[in-house]
Amino acid sequence: GRALLDLEVASRFTADLPADPETRNSRREVKGALFSRVSPTPTARPRLVAASAECAELIGLDPAECQTEDFARVFSGNALVPGMDPFAMTYGGHQFGHWAGQLGDGRAINLGEVFGSDGRGWNLQLKGAGPTPYSRTADGLAVLRSSVREFLCSEAMHHLGVPTTRALSLVETGDRVMRDMFYDGNAKLEPGAVVCRVARSFVRFGSFELPASRGDVGLIKSLADHVIRTCYPELLGTTGEGGEIAPDVYLSWFREICTRTATMVAHWTRVGFVHGVMNTDNMSILGETIDYGPYGWLEDYDPNWTPNTTDAGGRRYRFGHQSSVAHWNLTRLASALVPLMDGEIEGLQEAVDAYPKAYADEWGRQLGEKLGLVRFDEGEDAGLAAELFRVLELAETDMTIFFRALGDVTESAEPLHAAYYQPEKVSAEARGALDAWVAAYLERVARDGRSRGARREQMNAANPKYVLRNYLAQVAIDEAEKGSPDGVRELLDVLRRPYDEQPGRERFAEKRPEWARHRPGCSMLSCSS
Ligand code: AMP
Ligand code: MG
Ligand code: MG
Repeated sequence: GRALLDLEVASRFTADLPADPETRNSRREVKGALFSRVSPTPTARPRLVAASAECAELIGLDPAECQTEDFARVFSGNALVPGMDPFAMTYGGHQFGHWAGQLGDGRAINLGEVFGSDGRGWNLQLKGAGPTPYSRTADGLAVLRSSVREFLCSEAMHHLGVPTTRALSLVETGDRVMRDMFYDGNAKLEPGAVVCRVARSFVRFGSFELPASRGDVGLIKSLADHVIRTCYPELLGTTGEGGEIAPDVYLSWFREICTRTATMVAHWTRVGFVHGVMNTDNMSILGETIDYGPYGWLEDYDPNWTPNTTDAGGRRYRFGHQSSVAHWNLTRLASALVPLMDGEIEGLQEAVDAYPKAYADEWGRQLGEKLGLVRFDEGEDAGLAAELFRVLELAETDMTIFFRALGDVTESAEPLHAAYYQPEKVSAEARGALDAWVAAYLERVARDGRSRGARREQMNAANPKYVLRNYLAQVAIDEAEKGSPDGVRELLDVLRRPYDEQPGRERFAEKRPEWARHRPGCSMLSCSS
């Protein structure tokens, strides 16, 4: 790994794409440009809370460098490494189903791109480093509690094998930030923090929707060409470096976005993740999970659950609805890409229409792994799957513990009873339904004719033992707010190996304790903090 000052930083985004001619940081509508140059706001006393060694290695940085004062300064927005040319991107989006106009990076500032030996770039983005032209009525800042959640979840998702943006670092700023606490309605000062996110690209569906809403075809094309050339070069075929990109390449690209999005959401379903704010501005053009706000992890299996109090009425972004929402969002993206198609829009429509099957196929594949089947057969196994999810709803059953324990089931449902939250309240009907399902399941796996060991090994690689349980994040936050980074660091370490047994750390795999059932932060969150 390199030293901080040896990082090779530049930005193809600022080099190639139409820029906002104004350089002041004031809030405004920005037209005819894809980004604005901005400066991060200096902070009082930057101090590292935690860093991800794997993410440092990913960008070619020596993990030991993360412990230096210079690192905390750069990744809180107090200093720049040569080559950094900070900017905020424009984008729009559909929020809760309604067009919201210009949004943009209101509290995200891109420092530039780090290039590895393969020439491919990783973008570094600070979240919470001060206002930008896109901050609208908000402050451009982030509080420690939401930053801990974004930092830990990004890395947890990566280690779970879920496509996601990464997180390099979590730095406390030393400043206090004013927030309205959702639950008591009183304004409160909280510690501020900055997370450095890392991704090949931070372009969102909404990045295309905004110029499309203004009829700016030139911008749509510039951005599409940039994304394809930098992140989807394999699609270029014979187009060559600088050549004109043809409509069929744009179409293949959109198809690939559909497939990747389906795969991402299927992974969310597999691990019990609820994003919470699937607005089109929070959908990555790379099919990665982005923007960890009021997300949550299923405790008891409940397809209607959402952690987002802002969405409590409609529950648009509930667990069981995420695939349909992704489909709707892809339709919005397709509409924005119409101008690239030279009038041939049937292909876009076909690609959108192919999404539900792409999702079903991918989810079937992943569910097959969760169940330890050699192959999930849509016809033969659909009934078994449907009955399983019905049974899981009959009693309050921890999803993560249930699937992990299913690998231990060899003759009865007994190992699964550990997943019940309130065993004394489980009805005879629910227990009977589970017994019957287990009998059918054991018959099904017997037909595969594999050894127990082989089945269990496959299942343990698809059913995590350790996930970022909502209350675990809150406990680490409580400690961090009292000044100790140890809780965050230990949790990060546990979540690096979510599929492994980790002797001595079983407490991180336990059910949510009763005290956390209704505690704010443990189960319910509001949109932007
Ligand atoms: P989100 O719900 O987190 O996806 O945010 C929606 C929009 O609000 C995005 O344009 C964000 O950049 C912006 N935003 C959220 N929080 C803040 C904040 N504290 N300051 C400035 N902009 C923000
Ligand atoms: Mg967002
Ligand atoms: Mg957010």
